[in-house]
This record gives sequence, structure tokens and C-alpha cells, in this order.
Amino acid sequence: MMISDNYNDLKIQEYISNKDILNKISDIADAITSDFKSLASNTNPLYTICVLKGAVLFYSELIQKINLPLNTNFITLSSYGNNFKSSGKVSLVSENIPDLNGKNVLIVEDLIDTGLTLDYFTKYIKEKYSPASVKVAVLLNKKREKNTEFKPDYFGFEVDDRFIVGFGMDYKGLYRNLDYIGYVD
Ligand code: 5GP
Repeated sequence: MMISDNYNDLKIQEYISNKDILNKISDIADAITSDFKSLASNTNPLYTICVLKGAVLFYSELIQKINLPLNTNFITLSSYGNNFKSSGKVSLVSENIPDLNGKNVLIVEDLIDTGLTLDYFTKYIKEKYSPASVKVAVLLNKKREKNTEFKPDYFGFEVDDRFIVGFGMDYKGLYRNLDYIGYVD
């Protein structure tokens, strides 16, 4: 499917269908459920953290399918402006999360490009809170040379090194509502 964008003439080419995305998210949720079932309880839930805004659709599907006691938390990081390329600098824009000391933490992010964002954020969480464990789930991992050693614990798809939009991911604030993953043609 090709969508022509009226505003700036970008063309979006479908890359991964909604059905394939949802199936993959079920697989990731099953793996997380299985890995944490002996650890998570109502008195010691899994502390999930959604990285806004790109991970919102992935996160909302994922937590519905994780069959464990969990709580929900949201943070905003910035690494990209309105450009196709990473600025290379990551900063924490807002954070409203409880004390994670001794907790099992699952960070949920949309995609890994250079790896800088998640490398920064996992180190920040580990240093600030001393959690029992920190795992990371990402929907997409770009096939490219990484700038860090960071590796996700769970990921959905490897994708080509192209600019991705849809299923939560934007270009200049647009396309987050596409129910599929596409690339800018
Ligand atoms: P990294 O720090 O791994 O280079 O970049 C990660 C962040 O940059 C992701 O969370 C995502 O928000 C943004 N990003 C990287 N590549 C893309 C892309 O192709 N499309 C969109 N929409 N965002 C991207």
C-alpha cells in the first residue's frame, strides 16, 4: 500500500503489516510472561516503563498480553529532533516513576537505531535506583553498525536502515496512527 502525503509529498511504503506486528507482540509478551512468572506478584509487580511517545502503541498492545501483575510508568527522552538523523545526544525530558530499588523493571521502546538512547536510559535506571533486574523490549532493531554495546532482551523485527514511521513512530509528529509499520520512500 502506498500513501501519498498531502502536506509535504512524502510517500509511505508498507513494510510490516498490522497482523504481523500483533502476532509478534504476542510472542514477546509470552516470553516476558514466562521469564517473570516466578518473580512477579501483586506485592512485587513487574515495573514496566513506556518510553514516550513512539512506544505507545507497542506498549499498549504488549501490556495487555503480559499475563502477570504489573504497573505502568511513562518517561520522555529526547534524542531526535524533527530530523531523519539522530542528534547523538540523549536527555531525560520528564520522569514520573516510583522508586525502583529492588524491583524487576521492563523498559519498552519503539526502536533501536544507534543504541545510544537505551544505553543511556538503562544505565541511568541502574545507577539511580539499583533495581533487582532491568530488561528491555523493543519492537524494531535497525540493521546498522551500533554506537554502543547495548543489546535488547526482547525484540520484534530487524529492519533495514531506513526512516521508519507508523505504529506509534512519527515523522514531524505525523503517521503515529498508522496501524502498520512503513518507511519513508
Ligand atoms: P537511537 O538512540 O537508538 O539511535 O535512537 C532511538 C530513538 O530514535 C528511537 O526511540 C526513535 O524514537 C528514534 N528513531 C530512530 N530511528 C528512527 C526512525 O527510523 N523513525 C522514527 N520515527 N524514529 C526513529
